[in-house]
Amino acid sequence: MTRLDLELFFPPIPRRIARLLDLAYNLWWSWHPEAQSLYWQIDPDLWELVYHNPVRFLREVRQRRLDHAAGNPSYLQQFDSVLANFDAYMHSPEALPVPAPATSASPTEGETSTIAYFSAEFGLHESLPIYSGGLGILAGDLVKEASDMGVPLVAVGFLYPQGYFYQQIDAEGQQQAAYQKVHFADAPVIPARTPAGHEVVVGVELAGRMTYAKAYRIQVGRTPLFLMDTDIHPNSEQNRQLLARLYSGDQEMRLAQEIILGIGGVRVLRQLGFSPTTWHLNEGHAAFLVLELMRELVSQGIDTDRAMETVRSQVIFTSHTPMPTPHDAFPAELVKHYFWRYWPQLGMNYESFLNLARSDQNWEPIFSMTALALNLSSRCNGVSKLHSHVLREKWQWMYPDTSSDDVPITSISNGVHTASWLAPELRQIYDTYLGAGWETYLDDPDRWQRVADIPNDVLWSVRRRLRHTMVAFVREQVRQRYQRLEQTPAVWPVLEEDALSIGFARRFASYKRATLIFQDLERLKAILNRPGRPVQIIFAGKAHPADEAGKQFIRAIYQFSLQPGLAGRIVFLEEYDIAVGRELVKGVDVWLNTPRRPYEASGTSGQKACLNGVPTISVLDGWWPEAFNGRNGWAIGEEREFDDPEEQDRSDAQALYHLLEHEVIPMFYDQRDDGDVPNAWVSVCKEAILTVAPHFSTRRMLKDYVTQFYAI
Ligand SMILES: *Cc1c(COP(=O)(O)O)cnc(C)c1O
Repeated sequence: MTRLDLELFFPPIPRRIARLLDLAYNLWWSWHPEAQSLYWQIDPDLWELVYHNPVRFLREVRQRRLDHAAGNPSYLQQFDSVLANFDAYMHSPEALPVPAPATSASPTEGETSTIAYFSAEFGLHESLPIYSGGLGILAGDLVKEASDMGVPLVAVGFLYPQGYFYQQIDAEGQQQAAYQKVHFADAPVIPARTPAGHEVVVGVELAGRMTYAKAYRIQVGRTPLFLMDTDIHPNSEQNRQLLARLYSGDQEMRLAQEIILGIGGVRVLRQLGFSPTTWHLNEGHAAFLVLELMRELVSQGIDTDRAMETVRSQVIFTSHTPMPTPHDAFPAELVKHYFWRYWPQLGMNYESFLNLARSDQNWEPIFSMTALALNLSSRCNGVSKLHSHVLREKWQWMYPDTSSDDVPITSISNGVHTASWLAPELRQIYDTYLGAGWETYLDDPDRWQRVADIPNDVLWSVRRRLRHTMVAFVREQVRQRYQRLEQTPAVWPVLEEDALSIGFARRFASYKRATLIFQDLERLKAILNRPGRPVQIIFAGKAHPADEAGKQFIRAIYQFSLQPGLAGRIVFLEEYDIAVGRELVKGVDVWLNTPRRPYEASGTSGQKACLNGVPTISVLDGWWPEAFNGRNGWAIGEEREFDDPEEQDRSDAQALYHLLEHEVIPMFYDQRDDGDVPNAWVSVCKEAILTVAPHFSTRRMLKDYVTQFYAI
């Protein structure tokens, strides 16, 4: 679609600011607050109403408002400056030759991209609900970083028209899942086109029936992202719904989805004219792509073993799961039903085909996506040092003559996309104290040492302001919920502006132990209510709709939040998404993380918090053992696992209470200077920033992928 085609769908935008449309169709705006402000300023209420979605905004904004902006010199000045930055970014000299942006007049796809990155979810922005948690946020952050660094990467995934569910908590504390249809016309997506200008539709056989997927394109800065959807003619009604929602449906539906992701995804890239030299699997969901690459080679007359070797040399696998879980694997019977016409095309039989993905667990014969990915990749990593160690032990049986230390699974720790998660208020401070152009060096620890030069009162006053904004945000969310339920809250307002605020937001999987801090209710109440030293905790998070235990945790926390002694100090926020996450990681004072070690592969929310001067208090799991230095936050418990999970819970809860009572709270409230600045506390904030921001950034992470995996 060209810019002119697109304009047909929109109310006329004054020519002077017509490029608001270009900007809306490139997610570059999602990590540039000054670009978002170009829409926001025109109509702040509408901007909230359309949930920060520029495309919808432009469809719904009043002509009068646009005309007004187009005649406002100060608006135009900002407009010109943002657009100049955008153009410079898109055409900057270090840009490696990635395909032209979506809205330019003649998009040319080509042979230029070399790394294909496959993921079942991408968390780019709250207005595009095609992610569920950390795995997706990581993929979104990585794509943005690829764009910033000019790494020639092309990403492939799904466009779930109904996304992941929208969470509401009813009056009893039950999680209610609602699905809202995303209208493609309201999203920054356009149909993908082949070099010859045709729309891209691929066919994939699913248990004897041809199923078609159409590809859409999202431009993320300089990086293209192609997303498939099956809701098209002539698919059966059932298959049209196949990709409607993320992670819904039964095992067979998941298998069908993963076949489309892996096999359909390769076919999409081929139609577009891409010949990637490296294929990167973000988790095992996309591992069927290795079969399709093999099939291509075998169909050219290459024998099966050589095809396997070639494919292996081109594939990279990143695992995000600490333990092999049943939903990463499929029963052999089901796989047979879907693949019996496929394995002959690989020159294989049933037995050898199953052997590609055999898992040595004591379960029935199953086809493990992790085993498939390990077998057919040459480079594999876990997402923290601890996680990689756990993986080497779990999968050692696949490498019979190798000790677990030598199992070829290395570690590239996760990081976060700095510009997406940094509070604009702090960015200004960093601009001043880190020196101009610090973003160019954002993985350089020396540059970040300069954080020590920020005067304590300057940093503290920003931290306070950010907390106040967060409290206002939480109150508004809570107010809206009560209004919807037509109830009046028992305590109002909730939270205090100057109370020590602890944040806990994540998926409510059981191992994350969201209720750990409630083990000893009386002790907790005492901690929260000491005179002159109030403490409050803000919770948020979704449980998978089929996860009864996770939903039970939510109900429990919600019920606690109504109890005397906890009401007003414990809040459960609905609908944890990127927007809620952003408000919390920058607005609280401490970030709490209590997984049952070693189940947390990495975790990234604590990294986002540290970047904003919010230290973590965390179990030594995932990324934290690598980052904790005794001065940049707090470690709950010891670096060990327990045989008895209940004992582990008890021990960790005790350690957490002790830390809060004896270290965290006194440091926050006592030892304030004449200006009411807690200097010791601010030192921890600074240490958290300067130790975590450079290393746990996607800049460092993607450089690692490039030097260790992509460029060899
Ligand atoms: C960062 C983030 C996550 C992942 O954080 P964890 O620390 O792995 O739990 C999940 N969901 C959202 C919305 C996020 O922003």
